[in-house]
Amino acid sequence: MKKFSVIIPCYNEQEVIKIVFESVYKVFSQIKTYAEEDFQEILDFELLFIDDGSKDQTLKIIQEIADHNSWVRYISFSRNFGKEAAIFAGLQNATGDYVALMDADMQDPPKMLLDMYKAIKFEGYDIAATKRQTRKGEPPIRSFFAKLFYKIINKMSKTQIVDGARDFRLMTRQVVDAILEVCEYNRFSKGIFSWVGFNTKWFAYDNVERVAGKTKWSFWGLLKYSLEGVVGFSTVPLQIASYAGILFCLISLLMILVIIVKTLIWHDPTSGWPSLVCIIFFISGVQLFCIGVLGEYLSKTYLETKKRPIYIVKDKK
Ligand code: UDP
Ligand code: MG
Repeated sequence: MKKFSVIIPCYNEQEVIKIVFESVYKVFSQIKTYAEEDFQEILDFELLFIDDGSKDQTLKIIQEIADHNSWVRYISFSRNFGKEAAIFAGLQNATGDYVALMDADMQDPPKMLLDMYKAIKFEGYDIAATKRQTRKGEPPIRSFFAKLFYKIINKMSKTQIVDGARDFRLMTRQVVDAILEVCEYNRFSKGIFSWVGFNTKWFAYDNVERVAGKTKWSFWGLLKYSLEGVVGFSTVPLQIASYAGILFCLISLLMILVIIVKTLIWHDPTSGWPSLVCIIFFISGVQLFCIGVLGEYLSKTYLETKKRPIYIVKDKK
């Protein structure tokens, strides 16, 4: 007998919990019949809600569902630790041989789980992952910066991140264990998923809008998250300082030569205050930027060395 787990991180999702539960329940019975008829594989199911310190009725609704369904479990955090922490807690606590990760808001269509299961069972993939092929329904400015982010990170980092990749995925136990070995504090799951490797089948689908509630991501939140991605998976920004340094040394050498020649030939009087100020401003700007980059990495190292827990559990079933 094999087990199939679905992990759903939830933060203030009172409007959608019931809907996603019903929907997953339906898909479970489909997968169960399919597995029995075609593979003689008896599947047991587990639904694991991670309540990421919700302030609304989310936990209450989850508890109610868990009381009536023995196969539903939950973990509730002591406060909001962020989706990354919720994903980690889910992966640590899921007991399935197949483990799926899904958003609560129905933007990840549960009915796709059947095809994802087939890809792993039938075609021998280790991971069935999903990506959006369109971003319709999303603010254009968000799409623009998202695309830019993928371009930049894929240039800078050896770990390739697929444009539009969602966290919605199904993995074998082996993959989950590999992800859990990456126990860093500053977690950027999209990068970690790609970093661990394995054979992945990609499913593309059109963007679906959330059924109810609203997104937890502000523009700044996303910007900060993308910087986490860059700092977590690339050290190229650290080299910017060295390259800029070399470039400015060369330029200044050239300038010194020009000034010496000018003075010798034309006996140029001391002038050029404006250009001097411009240069000072520019160079100090570059210096501050480079120190800032150093600071970014230093702060991550600082947080990492503290070895704080990634999440704290308040209640679980
Ligand atoms: N989420 C979470 N903790 C947070 C923010 C979000 O667990 O601090 C969950 C949220 O409940 C949802 C998923 O992460 O199930 C995706 O969030 P959302 O739909 O707001 O993001 P979007 O789809 O807009 O990227
Ligand atoms: Mg969403």
